[in-house]
Amino acid sequence: MTGTDAVSATFVPYGQGRARGLDQDELGSHGVEVDRLVALGLPVVPGLTVPIAHAASLGEVEVARVAVDLLQQLVGRHIGDLTHPVLIRLLASTSAAGSAGAPVDIPGLGITPNTVAALDEMVGSDGAIYDVFAAVIRYVGEHGGGIPGDDFADAEYTASTLSERVKAYLELSSAEGFPFPDDPAEQLARAATAMRRRWVSPRARRSRRGQGLPEDLPLAFHVQAVRVGPLEASGHGLAQSRDPVTGAFAAIGTFRRGVRRSTTDDRPGESLDTLPGGRDVLMSALRTLELHFRGAAQVEFEIRDGEMSLLSARKVERPAPRTAVRLAVELAEAGTVDDATAVQSIRASDLESLLHPQLQLTGRETEFGRGLPASVGAAVGRVALSSDRAVELTESGESVVLVAEETSPGDLPGMLAAKAIVTSRGGLAAHAAVVARGLGRPAVCGATGLRIDLVNRTITFDGQTVAEGELISVDGSSGMLYTGAVHVVPPRPGGDLEALLRRADGLRRLGVRANADNGRDAAVALQYGAEGVGLCRTEHQFLGDRLPLVRRYLLATDPDEEALALTELAAAQKEDFLDLLTVTGNLPVTVRLLDAPLHEFLGDTAHEVNPMLGLRGVRLALTRTELYPAQARALFSAWVDLAAGGIQPRLEVMVPLVALAGELAAAIESIHRAADEIEESTGVRVPYTVGTMVETPRAALIAGQLAGLAQFLSFGTNDLTQLTYGFSRDDVEAQLLTAYVERQLLPVSPFASLDPDGVGALVEIAIRKAREVNPGIKLGICGEHGGDPASIEMCDRLGLDYVSCSPSRVPGARLAAAHAATTAAR
Ligand code: PEP
Ligand code: MG
Repeated sequence: MTGTDAVSATFVPYGQGRARGLDQDELGSHGVEVDRLVALGLPVVPGLTVPIAHAASLGEVEVARVAVDLLQQLVGRHIGDLTHPVLIRLLASTSAAGSAGAPVDIPGLGITPNTVAALDEMVGSDGAIYDVFAAVIRYVGEHGGGIPGDDFADAEYTASTLSERVKAYLELSSAEGFPFPDDPAEQLARAATAMRRRWVSPRARRSRRGQGLPEDLPLAFHVQAVRVGPLEASGHGLAQSRDPVTGAFAAIGTFRRGVRRSTTDDRPGESLDTLPGGRDVLMSALRTLELHFRGAAQVEFEIRDGEMSLLSARKVERPAPRTAVRLAVELAEAGTVDDATAVQSIRASDLESLLHPQLQLTGRETEFGRGLPASVGAAVGRVALSSDRAVELTESGESVVLVAEETSPGDLPGMLAAKAIVTSRGGLAAHAAVVARGLGRPAVCGATGLRIDLVNRTITFDGQTVAEGELISVDGSSGMLYTGAVHVVPPRPGGDLEALLRRADGLRRLGVRANADNGRDAAVALQYGAEGVGLCRTEHQFLGDRLPLVRRYLLATDPDEEALALTELAAAQKEDFLDLLTVTGNLPVTVRLLDAPLHEFLGDTAHEVNPMLGLRGVRLALTRTELYPAQARALFSAWVDLAAGGIQPRLEVMVPLVALAGELAAAIESIHRAADEIEESTGVRVPYTVGTMVETPRAALIAGQLAGLAQFLSFGTNDLTQLTYGFSRDDVEAQLLTAYVERQLLPVSPFASLDPDGVGALVEIAIRKAREVNPGIKLGICGEHGGDPASIEMCDRLGLDYVSCSPSRVPGARLAAAHAATTAAR
């Protein structure tokens, strides 16, 4: 090798790496990054890379001298020239992605005791050059010369100014036999050696192991020019390409005049509006980088003599949700990325903060306790310990959090009045959680440590007590409770979210419906983009002030009383259906006939040892044979009324809790009878389909028989999970599942995310058997899992036709269904 060849192998000026066929394994991540910036035509601070294979040689003074000479040529300035000064920054990077594990850089080589005062005066930033010089002397002395750090600390202790500190450090280095050199090449060689020694120390190796990096990860060095200038025209800063609040393109960041100090600079930075030389070059660099990264960009830059150059640039890996959505839509609209890439770049959890209120946590709030995150969003309110109290406080103008052991249908008025709901019992599929999600109220359920004292009207968690009427803050997305009022940030959906979801709609195969029991819920669901109602739980229409009517029917002892109560119930129910169907218009609506565990309506008067396994769903209908026909007549009669006005909902009548084909056959027969009666009385034949829920394991195993009778099947995975595991959906989450997840017996609660091995296997069997018998049968899911992204992915894979979930989860489901379809396609 000639001398020139040796030099060109050892030093690679920024921007020349790729032309020389070098990659990240040779140039380190920073070398590749600056190469890319140069290739994009962006202004980059002058510098050179010493590739990994040659990095050790930078510790030799003669090699370092060639590096210093080359750097001076590249920058066109000379070290020691006090009119146009330049310093040397030494940094290192590894072949690992990003800056993982890289050592901190040494910011200012080339200062000497003779030049320090003049440089500091020129920069005029209050001792910054002394500060940098002191840090370099200490780094080199400590890590290169083995001088104990404590000795430097002692020397620092006796110095009252930065200039005295430099003097003390220089004296210490000399006294320890390791005098700090004036020659910039010697300084660079010593700094490189110190950095390498520190890098291979047992402690640094341990730390890399802890980060999952190879212990002997090699380093490349980068020798960068730091042009020093007066405060008016010089400084350094950080900028991002997006406004985190609006997501709009903007240079957002801070700028600090003068040179970078050795420690964190706690002077407040200036806004980028006052950048010396203006913001145009920075803005255009950020634009270029966004198009290149196909994402938000973050840069570190310096300004010398009013000119901006980049020190580094990277893609922002986890931009704020508002930014991520806006950027994805802009890139897709510009054709820079395809829809699948745009949609894949957003996670369902990103949508939460855009659609629901969030607590703005500062770390200073007082934690009260925690439970299961049962319904997303956040709220602050005064504690109310009963439904009545919640209504009262709300009527007097207060925001209220309803706190109860658990809720039942009679608590609906309080749940409606409250801004949030907290229960000490019950899981993700219990009454409080299901109803809160339906109402769009944040909820924390199964907070097992919560003690409710109804005598003294207080609640206690771990010794902290809050009285009824005092404020608490509820985070239904994390399950956390705080005492007092935490600031709540309102949701900011923005038009670009809908634009993104429309692109998601174009990609997904699964239909997305909502579980909605009335016009109010359905309106929210449609606004969120639901394509129909996949589950109307008719028992929810009988809550609140309808409860006495239902009780009268269920408790009737003679047939006349029963018939009378049923007529009144059916009339009330027809009003409910008119309310719902007017909102849903011509969309499909699945109406599930009554499925109430009796204790939910009757309390102790209907004592059953296992009410969830008792007289529920179709079983009640087979003992009270007029119940389902009455409901069906109310539904069909509502349809006839609406059809007269031009609305023709697509009715799907669904039978719950079936375990025997005979149960379904009997229920279907009674529904058909109701349709015949309506036709007789009105002359209108109402179009509808009938189907059943698959929510007992036996129903899944005999899905072939059910499919012979039904036109659709909908998996009720709340009950199916309960019955497959033998876990009570009301109790087990708080009692057991949190502990099971902590002990890694389960990866996640099977009520939150569909269990692929057990429940999923039953779903798979049922799908196969159903389609064997009835290939055209429509198959969906309406358990809570229909809103869970991982479960939606499974539903897509298993070939269901649609998912149905709480209204607030519809946007996330649209996105997750698109993710599932595009992942499957790839
Ligand atoms: C189910 O069991 O999954 C279901 C949707 O019905 P419910 O939650 O009303 O029991
Ligand atoms: Mg069920």
